[in-house]
Amino acid sequence: MKKAKKVTRIAYSDDLNHAKYEALTEIAVRCGSVRTEVWHNYGSISGLDAKFRPVRDSFLAAGHIKNLPQRIWRATLSDVLGDIKANREAAKINVNSYIFRNVNDKNKRQELFKSLKNDSVWINNSYGRRLMRKYWKHGKNHTHNQIVLEPGSYKCFSYQGKNYIEIISLTRGKRIAIPIGTGYPITGQIRLILRSSQVEIHYTIDNTSENACGLPGSKLGIDKGYTEAFADSHGVFYGEGLGQILSNETDFLNKKYQKRNKIGAILDKLKEKNPKKAKRIIKHNLGRQKLDRRKKKHQGKVKTIIFTAANNIIGKAETVVCEDLTKTFKSKNLGKTTNRRLSCWVKGLMASAIDTVASRRGSRVVLVNAAYTSQICYQCGCFGKRTGDKFHCTSGCGAVMQADVNAAINILARLHDDELHRWLPFTKVKQILLERYRRSDETAHPELQLQLQKLSTESELS
Ligand SMILES: [Zn+2]
Repeated sequence: MKKAKKVTRIAYSDDLNHAKYEALTEIAVRCGSVRTEVWHNYGSISGLDAKFRPVRDSFLAAGHIKNLPQRIWRATLSDVLGDIKANREAAKINVNSYIFRNVNDKNKRQELFKSLKNDSVWINNSYGRRLMRKYWKHGKNHTHNQIVLEPGSYKCFSYQGKNYIEIISLTRGKRIAIPIGTGYPITGQIRLILRSSQVEIHYTIDNTSENACGLPGSKLGIDKGYTEAFADSHGVFYGEGLGQILSNETDFLNKKYQKRNKIGAILDKLKEKNPKKAKRIIKHNLGRQKLDRRKKKHQGKVKTIIFTAANNIIGKAETVVCEDLTKTFKSKNLGKTTNRRLSCWVKGLMASAIDTVASRRGSRVVLVNAAYTSQICYQCGCFGKRTGDKFHCTSGCGAVMQADVNAAINILARLHDDELHRWLPFTKVKQILLERYRRSDETAHPELQLQLQKLSTESELS
């Protein structure tokens, strides 16, 4: 039996009074100072050997905990050490990429990857150490609004039909009771996050409820779309109406700014002739308030669509395979319109929605090399054409498919494609794809061979 995974849930405070919020803020700020100090002392190579116990002892010796209950201080410390570790592991991804690009010998490469996994190995290896120094930038604490609590530092109860969680405060023996919306029993280590007068209580539950991710072993490839947010490798679409909302907003803003520009032009002349009138126009016709309010509302709508889509995807898959949405691939020529139409903000939101929901519900996100996944036919591997939302396998098997679904299937296939690994430059990806198709199609029609030759000379030229 597989061990049940933990998934994160969030409970929200309900009508928390101002004084309590202030008291919690004070605790969080003090935790923030602890975080800053630990990052400062242990956030880089020189602090690598930092383990909980010696760090704690050195802090205790320096008398650092006097303004925070020891239990809160301890929980914060181990949390920061965890963050530092995550920061270090993230740097290793870039080091891996560097090694792929610069070390040609396969055995040597494997050896380096292996040594990178174990911190006590690479740190004693001058090459590994140098690379880590280059890519592991000294991290910094940005967290000043969180309180981490171990069991025993808080208690849940209900009183007169309302649910509360009460936590230890800066005053010995005094607890702060936070009214919360859920009656679900909160256990284990929890994290309070303070945001605009509300407290989020992040807690974990076993991944056995219906809110968990897809079944063990379930895999789904996804590709970003425009009309809908995502398409998956089974041909299902998520986040319908996204494209409509995005283009409506763009149209509206274009018109709006055209008008504003016109007014601006008139205004320049008016300022000399009639300054009073000019002032009035600025106030009534060029204000930002209404626009800002509209922008907020629009962003809220888009967020809801994308997060709902992400939830529906994660509900189906234990492993989600997708491209790194925070990067744009130059090679994705045929998908350019989509790339251009989706703003950086929307793409970033899509990436973070998948990430957030996946980690909350216990799913794994694997980023793959997505070069040319929107340009080759998943059935025969041939390069094809995209028109609108259709993909035409023009020189291969002749299939016509929904373009994003075809791409999603190709993306899923990259999961186990060791040759087309994540760091392979897209020019090499193209070479390999052409080579593969040539091999699979040695016996195909002569006109096909001609097409292929044309494609491969094109790729050599580019
Ligand atoms: Zn085909």
